[in-house]
Amino acid sequence: MELKETIKLNGIRAELLVGIIVAERVYEDFGYGMVITSITDSRHAPGSLHYAGGAVDLRTRDIKDAAMIKKITETIRKRLTKDYDVVMEKDHIHIEYQPKYS
Ligand SMILES: [Zn+2]
Repeated sequence: MELKETIKLNGIRAELLVGIIVAERVYEDFGYGMVITSITDSRHAPGSLHYAGGAVDLRTRDIKDAAMIKKITETIRKRLTKDYDVVMEKDHIHIEYQPKYS
């Protein structure tokens, strides 16, 4: 696992850290190194969980095949609980911890 140089992760939620650990193992299982490109740094949508340390972005540009990115995204989603949202974005995978209280 590698962190982009500009990463800020002050106030990261422990629950998100578990998500990062699981995601890293999935990348590894598919033969890729995982690079975190953003946690609490950078600009995100207003109210984004990034600002609360509850969301992470993972680089996908090293994965050439869109089908493979989709497969990695789905595998991460499958290994985590429904309290995590795992979204395949244009140039990254976004994971956020958002507990669903029923
Ligand atoms: Zn994000």
